[in-house]
Amino acid sequence: MNVILLGAPGAGKGTQAVRLAEKYGIPHISTGDIFRSNIKGQTPIGIVAKSYIDKGQLVPDEVTIQIVKERLEKDDCKCGYLLDGFPRTVAQAEALDKFSKVEAVVNVDVPLNKLLKRITGRRVCAKCGESYHVDYLEGKTTCAKCGAELIQRADDNETTVSARLEVYEKQTAPLIEYYAQKGVLITVDGDGDIERVFNSICEKLG
Ligand code: ADP
Ligand code: ADP
Ligand code: ZN
Repeated sequence: MNVILLGAPGAGKGTQAVRLAEKYGIPHISTGDIFRSNIKGQTPIGIVAKSYIDKGQLVPDEVTIQIVKERLEKDDCKCGYLLDGFPRTVAQAEALDKFSKVEAVVNVDVPLNKLLKRITGRRVCAKCGESYHVDYLEGKTTCAKCGAELIQRADDNETTVSARLEVYEKQTAPLIEYYAQKGVLITVDGDGDIERVFNSICEKLG
Protein backbone atom coordinates (compact mmCIF):
# COMPACT_ATOMS: atom_id res chain seq x y z
CA MET A 1 0.00 0.00 0.00
CA ASN A 2 1.43 3.37 -1.07
CA VAL A 3 0.11 5.96 1.37
CA ILE A 4 0.70 9.66 1.96
CA LEU A 5 -0.04 11.49 5.19
CA LEU A 6 -1.01 15.06 4.49
CA GLY A 7 -1.62 17.74 7.11
CA ALA A 8 -0.41 21.00 8.56
CA PRO A 9 2.67 21.12 10.80
CA GLY A 10 1.62 19.69 14.16
CA ALA A 11 -1.47 17.93 12.81
CA GLY A 12 -0.21 14.60 14.15
CA LYS A 13 1.25 13.05 10.99
CA GLY A 14 4.37 11.70 12.70
CA THR A 15 2.40 10.38 15.66
CA GLN A 16 0.00 8.49 13.38
CA ALA A 17 2.71 7.42 10.94
CA VAL A 18 4.63 5.46 13.58
CA ARG A 19 1.48 3.55 14.51
CA LEU A 20 0.31 2.99 10.92
CA ALA A 21 3.73 1.80 9.75
CA GLU A 22 3.70 -0.81 12.51
CA LYS A 23 0.15 -1.95 11.78
CA TYR A 24 0.54 -2.20 8.00
CA GLY A 25 4.18 -3.34 8.01
CA ILE A 26 5.38 -0.60 5.67
CA PRO A 27 8.30 1.82 6.12
CA HIS A 28 7.62 5.26 7.59
CA ILE A 29 9.43 7.82 5.47
CA SER A 30 9.57 11.32 6.94
CA THR A 31 11.39 13.96 4.88
CA GLY A 32 11.70 16.07 8.05
CA ASP A 33 13.48 13.16 9.81
CA ILE A 34 15.76 12.63 6.79
CA PHE A 35 16.71 16.32 6.81
CA ARG A 36 17.29 16.33 10.58
CA SER A 37 19.59 13.31 10.38
CA ASN A 38 21.52 15.01 7.55
CA ILE A 39 21.82 18.16 9.65
CA LYS A 40 23.13 16.11 12.57
CA GLY A 41 25.69 14.44 10.28
CA GLN A 42 26.61 17.80 8.70
CA THR A 43 26.23 16.39 5.19
CA PRO A 44 25.98 18.72 2.15
CA ILE A 45 22.20 18.10 2.05
CA GLY A 46 22.01 18.87 5.77
CA ILE A 47 23.82 22.17 5.36
CA VAL A 48 21.47 23.29 2.58
CA ALA A 49 18.36 22.03 4.40
CA LYS A 50 19.22 23.75 7.68
CA SER A 51 19.29 27.20 6.09
CA TYR A 52 15.66 26.76 5.00
CA ILE A 53 14.33 24.81 7.99
CA ASP A 54 15.64 27.42 10.46
CA LYS A 55 13.55 30.04 8.68
CA GLY A 56 10.44 27.88 8.48
CA GLN A 57 10.70 27.67 4.70
CA LEU A 58 10.56 24.61 2.49
CA VAL A 59 13.75 22.96 1.31
CA PRO A 60 13.91 23.40 -2.51
CA ASP A 61 11.90 20.89 -4.54
CA GLU A 62 14.84 19.51 -6.54
CA VAL A 63 16.72 18.51 -3.36
CA THR A 64 13.65 17.03 -1.69
CA ILE A 65 12.35 15.16 -4.72
CA GLN A 66 15.72 13.49 -5.36
CA ILE A 67 15.94 12.28 -1.74
CA VAL A 68 12.48 10.73 -1.86
CA LYS A 69 13.04 9.18 -5.28
CA GLU A 70 16.17 7.43 -4.03
CA ARG A 71 14.49 6.34 -0.81
CA LEU A 72 11.50 4.79 -2.62
CA GLU A 73 13.86 2.75 -4.80
CA LYS A 74 15.06 0.81 -1.76
CA ASP A 75 13.91 -2.79 -1.32
CA ASP A 76 11.81 -2.16 1.78
CA CYS A 77 9.41 -0.02 -0.29
CA LYS A 78 8.51 -2.87 -2.65
CA CYS A 79 5.34 -3.68 -0.70
CA GLY A 80 4.43 -0.08 -0.01
CA TYR A 81 5.40 2.97 1.97
CA LEU A 82 3.99 5.65 4.22
CA LEU A 83 5.16 9.13 3.30
CA ASP A 84 5.02 11.69 6.12
CA GLY A 85 5.66 15.30 5.12
CA PHE A 86 6.09 14.67 1.39
CA PRO A 87 4.80 15.94 -0.99
CA ARG A 88 4.45 19.51 0.28
CA THR A 89 4.15 21.32 -3.05
CA VAL A 90 2.26 20.62 -6.27
CA ALA A 91 5.61 20.26 -8.06
CA GLN A 92 6.62 17.52 -5.59
CA ALA A 93 3.28 15.74 -6.09
CA GLU A 94 3.66 15.86 -9.86
CA ALA A 95 7.19 14.48 -9.61
CA LEU A 96 6.03 11.69 -7.30
CA ASP A 97 3.30 10.74 -9.79
CA LYS A 98 6.05 10.15 -12.34
CA PHE A 99 8.00 7.64 -10.25
CA SER A 100 5.36 5.99 -8.07
CA LYS A 101 1.66 5.25 -7.87
CA VAL A 102 -0.03 6.88 -4.88
CA GLU A 103 -2.97 4.78 -3.66
CA ALA A 104 -4.30 6.74 -0.68
CA VAL A 105 -3.76 10.22 0.72
CA VAL A 106 -4.84 10.70 4.31
CA ASN A 107 -5.51 14.33 5.14
CA VAL A 108 -5.28 14.80 8.92
CA ASP A 109 -7.48 17.80 9.49
CA VAL A 110 -6.85 19.96 12.58
CA PRO A 111 -8.14 23.53 13.06
CA LEU A 112 -5.41 26.13 12.67
CA ASN A 113 -5.92 27.55 16.17
CA LYS A 114 -4.94 24.20 17.76
CA LEU A 115 -1.72 23.78 15.79
CA LEU A 116 0.36 26.45 17.51
CA LYS A 117 -0.10 24.82 20.92
CA ARG A 118 0.66 21.37 19.54
CA ILE A 119 3.88 22.50 17.92
CA THR A 120 5.27 24.69 20.69
CA GLY A 121 4.48 21.97 23.26
CA ARG A 122 6.01 19.18 21.17
CA ARG A 123 8.96 17.27 22.58
CA VAL A 124 10.64 14.57 20.53
CA CYS A 125 12.86 11.65 21.40
CA ALA A 126 16.43 12.45 20.37
CA LYS A 127 16.98 8.78 19.49
CA CYS A 128 13.83 7.18 18.04
CA GLY A 129 11.93 10.34 17.04
CA GLU A 130 8.70 9.56 18.90
CA SER A 131 6.61 12.71 19.48
CA TYR A 132 5.24 13.76 22.86
CA HIS A 133 3.44 16.81 24.19
CA VAL A 134 4.34 18.62 27.41
CA ASP A 135 0.67 18.59 28.47
CA TYR A 136 0.75 14.79 28.73
CA LEU A 137 4.33 14.19 29.88
CA GLU A 138 3.62 14.89 33.55
CA GLY A 139 7.14 16.24 33.92
CA LYS A 140 8.84 13.18 32.37
CA THR A 141 11.97 14.02 30.36
CA THR A 142 12.76 10.64 28.78
CA CYS A 143 11.18 8.57 26.01
CA ALA A 144 8.65 5.93 27.12
CA LYS A 145 9.68 3.74 24.18
CA CYS A 146 13.48 3.77 24.32
CA GLY A 147 14.50 5.75 27.40
CA ALA A 148 16.47 8.42 25.52
CA GLU A 149 16.27 12.12 26.29
CA LEU A 150 13.37 14.25 25.00
CA ILE A 151 14.27 17.47 23.25
CA GLN A 152 12.51 20.42 21.67
CA ARG A 153 13.12 20.77 17.93
CA ALA A 154 15.04 23.93 16.96
CA ASP A 155 12.27 24.95 14.55
CA ASP A 156 9.44 24.47 17.07
CA ASN A 157 9.50 28.08 18.30
CA GLU A 158 6.73 30.63 17.86
CA THR A 159 8.55 32.72 15.25
CA THR A 160 9.30 29.83 12.91
CA VAL A 161 5.93 28.22 13.48
CA SER A 162 3.94 31.12 12.08
CA ALA A 163 6.11 31.06 8.95
CA ARG A 164 5.58 27.29 8.65
CA LEU A 165 1.80 27.61 8.97
CA GLU A 166 1.79 30.29 6.29
CA VAL A 167 3.91 28.13 4.00
CA TYR A 168 1.49 25.27 4.61
CA GLU A 169 -1.55 27.35 3.61
CA LYS A 170 0.09 28.67 0.47
CA GLN A 171 2.16 25.76 -0.80
CA THR A 172 0.83 22.54 0.73
CA ALA A 173 -2.92 23.00 1.25
CA PRO A 174 -3.52 23.05 -2.56
CA LEU A 175 -2.56 19.35 -2.51
CA ILE A 176 -5.90 18.56 -0.84
CA GLU A 177 -7.67 19.56 -4.04
CA TYR A 178 -4.95 17.95 -6.17
CA TYR A 179 -5.55 14.52 -4.61
CA ALA A 180 -9.32 14.96 -4.28
CA GLN A 181 -9.45 15.33 -8.06
CA LYS A 182 -7.48 12.13 -8.46
CA GLY A 183 -10.04 10.34 -6.26
CA VAL A 184 -7.53 9.13 -3.64
CA LEU A 185 -8.19 11.62 -0.82
CA ILE A 186 -9.34 10.42 2.60
CA THR A 187 -10.04 13.13 5.19
CA VAL A 188 -10.00 12.36 8.90
CA ASP A 189 -10.79 14.62 11.81
CA GLY A 190 -7.43 15.01 13.55
CA ASP A 191 -8.89 16.94 16.46
CA GLY A 192 -9.58 13.94 18.68
CA ASP A 193 -7.37 11.85 20.91
CA ILE A 194 -4.52 9.93 19.28
CA GLU A 195 -6.25 6.53 19.51
CA ARG A 196 -9.48 7.84 18.00
CA VAL A 197 -7.68 9.47 15.09
CA PHE A 198 -5.73 6.24 14.52
CA ASN A 199 -8.90 4.14 14.48
CA SER A 200 -10.63 6.42 12.04
CA ILE A 201 -7.63 6.33 9.67
CA CYS A 202 -7.53 2.52 9.81
CA GLU A 203 -11.26 2.27 9.19
CA LYS A 204 -11.02 4.48 6.12
CA LEU A 205 -7.89 2.81 4.76
CA GLY A 206 -9.55 -0.60 5.10
P1 ADP B 1 3.31 16.46 12.67
O1 ADP B 1 4.20 15.27 12.33
O2 ADP B 1 2.06 16.49 11.84
O3 ADP B 1 4.04 17.76 12.64
P2 ADP B 1 3.28 15.34 15.42
O4 ADP B 1 2.81 13.95 15.20
O5 ADP B 1 4.72 15.53 15.71
O6 ADP B 1 2.82 16.26 14.17
O7 ADP B 1 2.40 15.98 16.57
C1 ADP B 1 2.56 17.35 16.96
C2 ADP B 1 2.30 17.48 18.47
O8 ADP B 1 0.92 17.22 18.76
C3 ADP B 1 3.11 16.52 19.34
O9 ADP B 1 3.40 17.18 20.54
C4 ADP B 1 2.13 15.35 19.58
O10 ADP B 1 2.41 14.69 20.79
C5 ADP B 1 0.79 16.08 19.63
N1 ADP B 1 -0.33 15.28 19.10
C6 ADP B 1 -0.32 14.45 18.03
N2 ADP B 1 -1.54 13.92 17.83
C7 ADP B 1 -2.37 14.44 18.79
C8 ADP B 1 -3.76 14.29 19.11
N3 ADP B 1 -4.55 13.49 18.38
N4 ADP B 1 -4.25 14.99 20.16
C9 ADP B 1 -3.44 15.81 20.88
N5 ADP B 1 -2.12 15.99 20.64
C10 ADP B 1 -1.58 15.33 19.59
P1 ADP C 1 6.27 19.48 10.62
O1 ADP C 1 5.39 18.32 10.32
O2 ADP C 1 6.19 19.93 12.02
O3 ADP C 1 6.08 20.61 9.65
P2 ADP C 1 8.61 18.11 9.44
O4 ADP C 1 9.49 17.34 10.33
O5 ADP C 1 7.73 17.37 8.50
O6 ADP C 1 7.79 19.08 10.40
O7 ADP C 1 9.47 19.13 8.57
C1 ADP C 1 10.40 20.02 9.16
C2 ADP C 1 10.94 20.97 8.10
O8 ADP C 1 11.67 20.23 7.10
C3 ADP C 1 9.88 21.74 7.30
O9 ADP C 1 9.47 22.93 7.96
C4 ADP C 1 10.63 22.03 5.99
O10 ADP C 1 11.52 23.11 6.15
C5 ADP C 1 11.46 20.77 5.81
N1 ADP C 1 10.72 19.78 4.99
C6 ADP C 1 10.20 18.59 5.38
N2 ADP C 1 9.58 17.97 4.37
C7 ADP C 1 9.72 18.77 3.28
C8 ADP C 1 9.29 18.71 1.93
N3 ADP C 1 8.57 17.67 1.46
N4 ADP C 1 9.62 19.74 1.10
C9 ADP C 1 10.34 20.78 1.53
N5 ADP C 1 10.76 20.92 2.79
C10 ADP C 1 10.46 19.94 3.66
ZN1 ZN D 1 12.68 7.11 21.97
